Amino acid sequence: MKEAEPSFSFPTVVVREGETRVVVPKLEVFVKERGEYAPSKAPVFYNPVMELNRDLAVLALQAYQQTVERKISVCEPLSSCGIRGVRFAVEVEGIKRIVLNDISKEAAKLAQFNIERNNLADRISAANEDANLLLSCYAAPRKRFDYIDVDPFGSPVPYMDSAVRALRDQGLLALTATDVAPLCGVHPKACVRKYGGRPLRTAYCHELAVRLLAGCLTMMAAKHDIGIRVVFSHSTNHYIRVYAIARYGAKRADKSVQKMGYVLHCFTCLHRETASGIFSSLKKNCPECGSGIRTAGPLWLGKIFDEKLLALMERELKKRKLRNQKTILKMLSMSKDEVEAPPMYYITDKICDKLNLPIPPLIEVMKKLRKAGFQAVPTHFNNRGIRTDAPASVFKEIIARLVT
Ligand code: SAH
Repeated sequence: MKEAEPSFSFPTVVVREGETRVVVPKLEVFVKERGEYAPSKAPVFYNPVMELNRDLAVLALQAYQQTVERKISVCEPLSSCGIRGVRFAVEVEGIKRIVLNDISKEAAKLAQFNIERNNLADRISAANEDANLLLSCYAAPRKRFDYIDVDPFGSPVPYMDSAVRALRDQGLLALTATDVAPLCGVHPKACVRKYGGRPLRTAYCHELAVRLLAGCLTMMAAKHDIGIRVVFSHSTNHYIRVYAIARYGAKRADKSVQKMGYVLHCFTCLHRETASGIFSSLKKNCPECGSGIRTAGPLWLGKIFDEKLLALMERELKKRKLRNQKTILKMLSMSKDEVEAPPMYYITDKICDKLNLPIPPLIEVMKKLRKAGFQAVPTHFNNRGIRTDAPASVFKEIIARLVT
């Protein structure tokens, strides 16, 4: 039987992601000049590059559902064509209802079309409101969601407060931030304004970005006496993502706030260290070389992965056939090694550049670090990165010895 054609004022196409088929705008029609960014040109936003982001969300949501062991409710307040939410309904077991929403009429209409196309109208609805207004309607105790996925373009901060209020105790909140330039220190003032913390353009700025976003969430949730536990995070392409579980209670909020602090970085010798607590007095000079030291934060210094969730995600992944299967498997297994590893990875190539040395194989650097009694693991944040507790001077010495 031929499928009914959607009646939209723009050309559409059917795409498959995971096990789900949905109708999206035909992006190539909207590109007028070479190099134009098609997702933002189409009347309804759709970005095929975010498939990996959505794949991981499907896995994280299924893993989370297994940990709570009950049927869960889901909200995606900025859903565009609904691809993410429809995927949740089709690919995740144990969901009782999903509320999608988008401020754009056309987007909400396309989301509704995709819901009906997949015979999901009994479990999903698509609203056409401002995200904050929608979330506020669900902020009362028995109305709250188990999972909220805030996936806007730009910063999630404008929606964070209402998302926290609409999240039930032990609920999971996922945040995407595509404003990586502020978070990575290219526009530090914008970062301070939006996230309440200072960024730094270090080699490990993507980890700082995750920590700044998590820190902003921690402080925002704390105002509502809600504690935060970051269970998964990643930095991919042009965005970062943080998944955090909310725990109600003033004591839990205090505990989360205690995980806030600063990262101190010396741009001369590459020494880095952390200082715990929002009110800690900070060093002015580098303890290794004496130069002036720079500060990032306040930001989240707690864990950014949870071992149990990662294991469940990996198990779920192995049951599925995703286009990004291999990439995700690698990401998850690397993240598992990162759970207990030191923060603020080194990038060997950048250090070699600075020292004017050829680049040794990463594996050799790690071997030598371990032999010298330090931790050394790679990081999914950067394929040239190494997490280690070795001081910068030792790291540089090991590299120099390997290549000279
Ligand atoms: N989450 C989607 C992509 C969303 S793109 C996915 O996974 O594919 C961001 C969407 O947010 C756009 O469709 C835009 O129309 C919508 N939007 C922007 N401001 C909004 C607001 N204040 N309330 C609700 N939706 C909004």
